[in-house]
Amino acid sequence: MREDKMKEERMDCPSGHRKMILRKTKKTITFRGVKIIVPTEHYRCTTCGIEAGTVEQTARIQKTIADAYRREVNLLTGDEIVEKRKRLSLTQEGLAKRMNVGIASIKRWEGGTIQSKSMDHALRIALGGQSVGDSCTGNRAFSIPRIKLVVKAFESVLGKHILKKNDKMLFAAKYLWYADMVAHRETGESMTGATYAALPYGPQLNNYKDLIEDIMKAAESKADALSPEEKRIIARIAFKFPEERMAYDAAHKEKIWKKQPNGAIIPYTDSADITGL
Ligand SMILES: [Zn+2]
Repeated sequence: MREDKMKEERMDCPSGHRKMILRKTKKTITFRGVKIIVPTEHYRCTTCGIEAGTVEQTARIQKTIADAYRREVNLLTGDEIVEKRKRLSLTQEGLAKRMNVGIASIKRWEGGTIQSKSMDHALRIALGGQSVGDSCTGNRAFSIPRIKLVVKAFESVLGKHILKKNDKMLFAAKYLWYADMVAHRETGESMTGATYAALPYGPQLNNYKDLIEDIMKAAESKADALSPEEKRIIARIAFKFPEERMAYDAAHKEKIWKKQPNGAIIPYTDSADITGL
């Protein structure tokens, strides 16, 4: 909120007693099991005693609670993210690229949404001046058109669509994960630069919810063409898993997925331990 806007705010009593007075207090609350002290404010009518808050006040209080909580559990606050990002002269988009997440995530975290522990870790690395790096991207710059290109290559070998709008990339992500991991193991470089998280239903593109729309829209012609070796890897995977379910089941047997806690990044440094292929 801007200072000038805060000063302009005022509220009249709904019962017609004219201007209400601003009262600022501090409250101790328990949020997600953590005790935090939050400064709150509301308007009070001196005639009838009614109390009310503006939409802006409510939004400020919500952000204050989120930030107090983040400070308490050692997560970066929204302001800290903004400040560190600006110190690096990074735009929200630049930071999103560095972290392989959608710009919507950056906006939410800066605006007050609480990031997960693993995303906080990725934020700290990205804001420390380096990209999240080799173990998360497999030595290749993240590229959405490349994801589309690899998906299309699978679809052409498999003879069916694996990228569907409302299936949470359930199967497409498994093929992509195998392609990236096997390419990393055998060529030292992933195919798409994507980062994968260990989710209950298998390895998944990190932050796929923010990426899916862009992947659907992406033009594969904008990506670097696949090398002969990459094409061979895709063909081998498609040949081994002709049915989507097979890729899904195989991924669930991989110990490099099993050993990660829910939501953690599966590092490319584990690619040597892939057993399905
Ligand atoms: Zn009143």
